[in-house]
Amino acid sequence: MEERQKQLNILILGAGFGGICTAKYLLKLTRKIPNIKITIIDRNTYHFFTPLLHEVATASIHSDHIKRPLRMLFNKENVEFHQGEINKVDLKNQTVEICTNCSKCDNSPKYDLYTYINTPDFVSERRQAFQYNYLVLAMGSQPDFFGITGADKYSYTLSSIKSSEDIKARILECFELANHTNNLQLKKELLTFIVIGAGATGTEYIVELYDLCKNVLAKDFEFVNFDRDCRIILVEAKDQILPNMDPYLVKYAMKHLQGMKIEIMTSTRVTKITDCNIELNGKISIPTHNVLWAAGVKANNLVASLPLSKNSDGRVKVNSFLQTTDKPEVFALGDNACFMPKEKERESPLMQTAQVAVQESKAVAMNIVKHFSGEKLHHFKYVFLGSTVSLGERKGVANLVGKFELKGFSAWFSWKLTYLRHLLIIEKLTHALWDWSFDLLYNRQMARFKLH
Ligand SMILES: Cc1cc2nc3c(=O)[nH]c(=O)nc-3n(C[C@H](O)[C@H](O)[C@H](O)COP(=O)(O)OP(=O)(O)OC[C@H]3O[C@@H](n4cnc5c(N)ncnc54)[C@H](O)[C@@H]3O)c2cc1C
Repeated sequence: MEERQKQLNILILGAGFGGICTAKYLLKLTRKIPNIKITIIDRNTYHFFTPLLHEVATASIHSDHIKRPLRMLFNKENVEFHQGEINKVDLKNQTVEICTNCSKCDNSPKYDLYTYINTPDFVSERRQAFQYNYLVLAMGSQPDFFGITGADKYSYTLSSIKSSEDIKARILECFELANHTNNLQLKKELLTFIVIGAGATGTEYIVELYDLCKNVLAKDFEFVNFDRDCRIILVEAKDQILPNMDPYLVKYAMKHLQGMKIEIMTSTRVTKITDCNIELNGKISIPTHNVLWAAGVKANNLVASLPLSKNSDGRVKVNSFLQTTDKPEVFALGDNACFMPKEKERESPLMQTAQVAVQESKAVAMNIVKHFSGEKLHHFKYVFLGSTVSLGERKGVANLVGKFELKGFSAWFSWKLTYLRHLLIIEKLTHALWDWSFDLLYNRQMARFKLH
């Protein structure tokens, strides 16, 4: 009983899909329980909606519309937010260390203003330690380059708001440079954009990129001719695009993409990337300065280094309650967790998707409270809600709850609804509806305005 009177520290590492939803569900479940402290840590000051990062990169949507300031999200709530780079997790002593403004740390948060104001005025290398009773690992993943030479150095990834903004700036810069040269070969090199990976992200990405280049930029730059100068190429190692989709929907998507001037290269492996070239299948060489990576992710480095049982790709093994198999007080979810569903036909862990992370967050929150109260824990069961892919021009393909197939506008609309659903979990109805409606109503003109 005495133990119960002490403060209970629940520490959530990462404020992405899994982390933020765990905090929200924990808030609801612990309202009547005294002395609970929920702390969430992230390297960013905001939570962002990764499924729309490619739209930021291709100037379809402004980054502000996919960001939510974390302090605002938990304003007046019993959740403490700390910004910093998590650099040490001590599972034995139940502590986590973070650093802020640390020069040694590659991932330390950088502020625009920081470069203009005198650096010595800021506290450098501020380190903080947090004690926990329950720990939630929700630090997501990072791009996987599969050991391909030059891929990490020369390709652009969609891993953060900053990297998406960099891609947008890069595209614009290439058009500017191409506009100032009469060398047609160089023009083509600058305006050859190659997306690697034709999963849902890569396919949505290439369509938005095509739209930006053809319908916005090529019209703005007088010495660029889209048909003569631009190449938009989608490369996929497997023998089809959208490998996880139903063949009927893949056929529709292929037809849609082929109607555009997009070159689709399936059964094609990237073997080398340099600053001005990409090599495919060890023999084809395409001069380009713009390789855009959307080919896969691997476990977060810090999580993969923890002394916990993991699968071959570094995800932490969890039981049916989402507790790590080695430490019952440590829970893992989303991209950090390797959860094996108990279905006869499945032998692979749940995929690294937002809907998995969100569903798991509810079970994690529930099980932390149950564990603390000495109740029987809840077995997590994943329900596939479907997958949707936007193909631009308000068209898409969708598979809902694994049963209903949609194509065209209805599929595109259901894709937009997933954004609303997420907003409704994390914030108030009025805010969510406003932002969702804005997002739904924006058009290329708006994006074009934002680009300049
Ligand atoms: C471009 C892109 C498009 C995607 N599209 C879709 C889609 O359409 N549908 C879908 O279901 N899924 C999609 N996904 C996958 C989806 O985003 C992830 O599966 C989901 O975000 C996993 O949630 P999570 O909570 O595990 O991690 P995340 O949401 O990635 O959150 C991890 C958080 O941890 C923080 N963090 C990590 N390391 C540290 C550290 N050392 N210190 C401090 N903070 C740290 C990060 O800043 C981040 O906020 C997409 C992913 C990407 C990259």
